[in-house]
Amino acid sequence: MIKNPLIFAATSDVAGKVRGKAFPVSDLEKRSKKGVGWTPTNVMITCFDAIADSPFGALGDLLLTPDEETSVELDFKDGGPVERFMLGDITDLDGKPWEFCTRSLLKAALERLKAAGGVSLVSAFEHEFQFKTGGDQPGEAYGHSGFSDRRIFGETLMAALDASGLASDTFMKEYGANQYEVTNDPASGHRSADQAVILREVTRMTAKRLGEGVTFTPIRDPDGVGNGVHIHISFLAEGGAPATYDENGTAGMSKITASFIAGVLKYLDSIIALTAPSDVSYLRLTPHRWSAAYNNLGFRDREASVRICPVTATDPSSIARQYNFEYRAADAAASPHLALAAIIHAGAQGIEDALPAPKVTEEDLSVLSTDELEQRGYVRLPETLEAALHRFESNETVCGWFPAEFASVYTAHKRGEIAYLKDKDTNARCAAYEDVY
Ligand code: GLU
Ligand code: MG
Repeated sequence: MIKNPLIFAATSDVAGKVRGKAFPVSDLEKRSKKGVGWTPTNVMITCFDAIADSPFGALGDLLLTPDEETSVELDFKDGGPVERFMLGDITDLDGKPWEFCTRSLLKAALERLKAAGGVSLVSAFEHEFQFKTGGDQPGEAYGHSGFSDRRIFGETLMAALDASGLASDTFMKEYGANQYEVTNDPASGHRSADQAVILREVTRMTAKRLGEGVTFTPIRDPDGVGNGVHIHISFLAEGGAPATYDENGTAGMSKITASFIAGVLKYLDSIIALTAPSDVSYLRLTPHRWSAAYNNLGFRDREASVRICPVTATDPSSIARQYNFEYRAADAAASPHLALAAIIHAGAQGIEDALPAPKVTEEDLSVLSTDELEQRGYVRLPETLEAALHRFESNETVCGWFPAEFASVYTAHKRGEIAYLKDKDTNARCAAYEDVY
């Protein structure tokens, strides 16, 4: 059959969905300069496709310009079509970044971090997901047999990630029912968020090619464990030397790291609407699920919102290269770009305000009363999306990190999403999210 190969120009939008338009490969040169047309009201399309109240109506025109740096050309060599897509930035017709382009928001946050701390960011997104197909695997938490059930998938996925410009790292059977985890190597600046988008798309494509279905939904079964996105972060000084570790710092944190994490913890309750942005995200963010319920820093503690991760090295210079911390209160309903932008702004604020190193918790915060938590300087994170949105929009400092209209548009979008769910019980809500992420 005749065909003209197409490239899909994509944005990871505020709904955490990958949307865009395709153009013929032969037009790439033109499209990398002039983009494809985009519409302001698209920012109000929720993950369920219902359009929330839009301040833009039918008006306005934008450009989504693909960035060849993100080009994926993936041939599974299974006789099926070659997948081609690129992520891009959204601008107005004069080339000015659009206020709701998640990739541009991340680039601005990275600039702020550089100005505040003189460092660049290296990060990696660790993803958990579940198969919707193939039946249960009782007794297979971290199991070999459970792994082996998906060996073909895992091997195809590793090859597909490598072919897509990522460096595949690990694939494992996670604890939950039909749950697996995939990791790839860290990347600098906005590239890690680009790679997280590519990883999710390629994981879904790989499953489809093998006749399976996967979901990255924050939680599939309200009684089960959630699917987390853990964002590993470290810093490089100008010139490339590692800047995250100081052997004399609290739990090994350098001054920059300590203030950055202190900022993240201080503003966590107000940014969580951006990093765990679905209605069901808050079923996952409950104690004893190895996710994040309080704004605490843990040293190798999987119940902490921010965790200092283990290193295998023993000499100081190798430790300094491996040392990183992870933000655990994120999930795949968030655009990786927007989630990372929010974390960086909170951290940069902490650096600008020279916040002191946070204490490292070594206790179960869920047994403490609200008063005891407050005395120690902790809060229970918001327990619903509405509560999280309220904290976000009422925190002037946090709203000020984003363009003027961002908070009102974002919260209107999310309230449209909540309205779509209004007649659904918890299980039906989980099912709805499982279908779209
Ligand atoms: N599934 C847990 C989460 O929702 C994480 C488990 C782990 O530490 O890998 O974040
Ligand atoms: Mg995991």
